[in-house]
Amino acid sequence: MTDLERPRGGVPAPKDWTYAPAPEARDVVTLADRYGHFVGGEWIEAEETYTTISPATEEPLAEIGQATPAEVERAVAAARDAYDDGWSTISPSERAKYLFRIARILQERSREFAVLESLNGGKPIKESRDVDLPLAAAHFFYYAGWADKLEYAFPNQRPRPIGVAGQIIPWNFPLLMLAWKIAPALAAGNTVVLKPAETTPLTALLFCDVLRQAELPAGVVNIVTGDGATGAAIVKAEGVDKVAFTGSTEVGKAIQRELAGTGKKLTLELGGKAANIIFDDAALDQAVEGIVNGIYFNQGHVCCAGSRLLVQESIYEPVVDKLKRRLATLRVGDPLDKNTDVGAINSKQQLEKIQELVAVGEEEGAEIYQPPCRVPEKGYWFVPTVFTNVAQSYRIAQEEIFGPVLSILTFRTPDEAVEKANNTPYGLSAGVWTEKGSRILWMAERLRAGVVWANTYNRFDPSSPFGGYKESGFGREGGRHGLEPYLQLDDSEAFGG
Ligand code: ADP
Repeated sequence: MTDLERPRGGVPAPKDWTYAPAPEARDVVTLADRYGHFVGGEWIEAEETYTTISPATEEPLAEIGQATPAEVERAVAAARDAYDDGWSTISPSERAKYLFRIARILQERSREFAVLESLNGGKPIKESRDVDLPLAAAHFFYYAGWADKLEYAFPNQRPRPIGVAGQIIPWNFPLLMLAWKIAPALAAGNTVVLKPAETTPLTALLFCDVLRQAELPAGVVNIVTGDGATGAAIVKAEGVDKVAFTGSTEVGKAIQRELAGTGKKLTLELGGKAANIIFDDAALDQAVEGIVNGIYFNQGHVCCAGSRLLVQESIYEPVVDKLKRRLATLRVGDPLDKNTDVGAINSKQQLEKIQELVAVGEEEGAEIYQPPCRVPEKGYWFVPTVFTNVAQSYRIAQEEIFGPVLSILTFRTPDEAVEKANNTPYGLSAGVWTEKGSRILWMAERLRAGVVWANTYNRFDPSSPFGGYKESGFGREGGRHGLEPYLQLDDSEAFGG
């Protein structure tokens, strides 16, 4: 028995019965050896490149451009030309037409995108197929609907586009974050320079082919790839009027410092350390499913993950017991296998960060549980993990781990639950599990979180605004609210916004 197969924490290993492999076919995806940047509707050769890999196998997939400041400038200039040449002034229903086309093409090509997303990012195919792709298409459909109704969304405020938006996205939901950024920006009449994360550029690059198919005017969307240096060049670029960033709180703060006093608009969607709160009257089996979905969905690479579980003291034992049993049934492995529940960790760097914080948790005195689990030899993997005996001051209860690691704390009264849940520098999301509607409302009023889910977790809908308080950032994405950061409005100008 290897270390990873040995149960830690006293629950016996389940009987060893396995599922037959059910791999999704990879041949729906055609990769180029080398990609440039998509600027002004054309591919430009990249001066510098790096290799993108599959985190599940460590195999190289393609050479990707590392955009230099000069290449970023070229993309910004193309976006400016497209803005001035007509995108900002064509009839709004024309803009809607392009967005509807993009949405439909994404639906048509969803299998290809889902396979590529799982290949490059490590997430289970059932998640990219059933969550990322349908939601990405839904986002374009949703904002297509708003494009010619801006006057109704913001009556008496003369909504006008801002100009060129510089958009920087993370690696946890590559195509979905692209959709969250591009759809509202275009619907509002802006043009875009977007940079995907360095570890997951491939679906953003395939998206350029969707733009070509949709016959979107050249330069309305430009995609440059590269790491943080490329991101920093976008933030600095003179011609960028608005920056939208999703990523770590640390980088978000640096961007905010950089933009202070420049007059550029900014929205930030940053980290989280959400509390998922289980009251003793909750339906326990459903709550356990919600806990699992809250923290092990997408390997816990979710900014709104329910990474702190707050359980009412009277039900602590049955909840932990049920949770451990459920954990033992999670299938960890090949992201392209349709049975896989937990895929690969996105990168070596992220794996090391998770390992470091988990080691700190053990040193601090928390008790670790990992189910018996075999993981592939190659690639980056982390077994779903639960910590009990966690104090609020522990780093694993304070810091975002961004991995499949749950910290369990307890509470006795609703007031104590609120106090503990809000005891974090973040404020992105929270979950409440109880039978009582009045308690849900009472809790939602007091929780300092942008989203509060009741008797569910990690539910997304394009019509529902998403965003944070405190160090989780500011500005909202989704819904009518998600249009606002991409518009100049008469009343917001009065306040210098
Ligand atoms: P993580 O630590 O989870 O990788 P980051 O905040 O570093 O999150 O990355 C999110 C996105 O921000 C990525 O696209 C990354 O390339 C980009 N990025 C990283 N550093 C900077 C920076 N200094 N300025 C702008 N973008 C950056």
